Amino acid sequence: MRIAADTTRCIGAGTCAFTSPEIFDQNEQDGTVVLLRPEPSDAQADTVRRAIHNCPSGALSLAAPTEGTT
Ligand code: SF4
Repeated sequence: MRIAADTTRCIGAGTCAFTSPEIFDQNEQDGTVVLLRPEPSDAQADTVRRAIHNCPSGALSLAAPTEGTT
């Protein structure tokens, strides 16, 4: 699993960072999403999917995994 974040769509609502603070943070200047861990573990997958689903701007998505990773 690999997360893609489009900071041009992010409105800085912070839902992702609230849902999954070990994966997402927010830029201190404008509040846009910062990916702390773009390739989360399998154990974190459900939480990440919930964060993506709950993002109000549709800025988060799942990207194809980097070669050699899952
Ligand atoms: S939930 Fe979506 S809009 Fe809110 S900070 Fe995260 S990526 Fe940005």
